Amino acid sequence: MPGEATRGLQFIEPPIFERGARGRSGASVPALDVPPVDIGRELGALARVEPAALPEASEPEVFRHFVRLSQKNFAIDSQFYPLGSCTMKHNPKVNEWAARLDGFAALHPLTPPHLAQGALELMVALQDLLAEIVGMDEVTLQPAAGAQGELTGLMMIRAYHRSLGRSPTKIFIPDSAHGTNPASCALNGFEAVPFPAGDRGIVDPETLARAVEQAGDDVAGLMITNPNTLGLYESGLPQIAEVIHGKGGLVYGDGANMNAVLGRSRPGDAGVDVMQFNLHKTFTTPHGGGGPGSGPVAFKRLLSAFQPTPVVRKGTSGYELDDQRPASVGRVRSFFGNFGMMVRAYTYIRELGPEGLKAVTDMAVLNANYLAARLKETLPLGVDAPVLHEAVFTDRKLEAETGVKTLDLAKRLIDYGFHPPTVYFPLVVRGALMVEPTETETKQTLDAFISAIEAIKQEATDDPELVKNAPHLTQIGRLDEARAARKPSLRWRPGGASEA
Ligand SMILES: *Cc1c(COP(=O)(O)O)cnc(C)c1O
Repeated sequence: MPGEATRGLQFIEPPIFERGARGRSGASVPALDVPPVDIGRELGALARVEPAALPEASEPEVFRHFVRLSQKNFAIDSQFYPLGSCTMKHNPKVNEWAARLDGFAALHPLTPPHLAQGALELMVALQDLLAEIVGMDEVTLQPAAGAQGELTGLMMIRAYHRSLGRSPTKIFIPDSAHGTNPASCALNGFEAVPFPAGDRGIVDPETLARAVEQAGDDVAGLMITNPNTLGLYESGLPQIAEVIHGKGGLVYGDGANMNAVLGRSRPGDAGVDVMQFNLHKTFTTPHGGGGPGSGPVAFKRLLSAFQPTPVVRKGTSGYELDDQRPASVGRVRSFFGNFGMMVRAYTYIRELGPEGLKAVTDMAVLNANYLAARLKETLPLGVDAPVLHEAVFTDRKLEAETGVKTLDLAKRLIDYGFHPPTVYFPLVVRGALMVEPTETETKQTLDAFISAIEAIKQEATDDPELVKNAPHLTQIGRLDEARAARKPSLRWRPGGASEA
């Protein structure tokens, strides 16, 4: 149970600029032994007139400052982090060992292929493993995030249509898709055509067929998130793919949530033509705070000619980079993508093997269903159906009974030591609370989380203001999130004034 509010007693960490003193330093530089340069003369008007107001601090001051900040961070390595759709699972530490091996970590990205055979071999092996896992013919590892994988896959779809002398514009997207899907379409110059997934929460092939019929010949394809953002399996996928293929379109599968189906079902077998992985989610690289990411794209043979270059492959005399692909969409990322994540993903897959990957899915699905079954007494599900890897709850009942909303509940969970789930997404569920427990959590952790939600429900009944004003135990209380987004204060100024 959280105790009295202790915010006032907590230690506020000032920015590094407010630490240290003029002339203090953490480094000792040898005396100048070359002729001094007159910067003013060399750089003219570009030379700085006033010295930059950089922090001047000793090594222990700097070290402590950043260690303290890191300890204030919420981290999957210390607490439960059920942020729906983000797959915040434990990242095995053996991955870090592998990624930090000198031969991988210290390899210069411009090393010629004949001196980087080991790294290229790992990339080809990972491509093959990923292709097999999803039932596709080939994989490119280049894209640096899930969303960039979507973009790359759509670029390949467009190049494919062009190669046939066609230029259809419409990509169909159900309203249960992830938010990046329509954005990737728009960036690619396609028109995102939304259609309702329907009451069951999954796409009904006949509803889709009617929507597609109205588009005539103008069908570039479909983007479908499977399992979708409600955590539901799109069981109509083979028929859905038939509808799209019948119109000459291709099926893009958003594969960010592969931890729900690993070893149990393969998108390629269900009719998907091209998809991205989110290595940082499914294949375990720490990915809080916006990075790093890796979004390899898997595709069927008919898209092979259009994949990004250089293609990493095994040639007659070793592993090589193939640039000779005139139909390619080109390079989508500098060098070869985030290589360290490829090492982690490869290590993870090899460590688990086929049986282990199956167990990942089984545990992810079991955990989510356990949470759904126990929590729905307190918070009804958005769509009451068995889920895969995550469950979406609604605040409908809670708000009607107590006036407390999803956001209040999420903020109060912080006081109980849990990272809030994803809130207000997907939009198809009112006051959505999207909980993804992941496969790496124990029953005890899930039970503690369930107890916290039940306790907050009780608080909402007894003392709604307590919940509405949460969090109480953090250094900073409830933020004005709209103002923070519209007028962000991103820059420190002397004297505490801040500026966007
Ligand atoms: C996370 C996610 C994405 C976006 O991936 P990024 O790596 O954040 O760009 C796309 N689709 C789904 C379903 C996701 O969960």
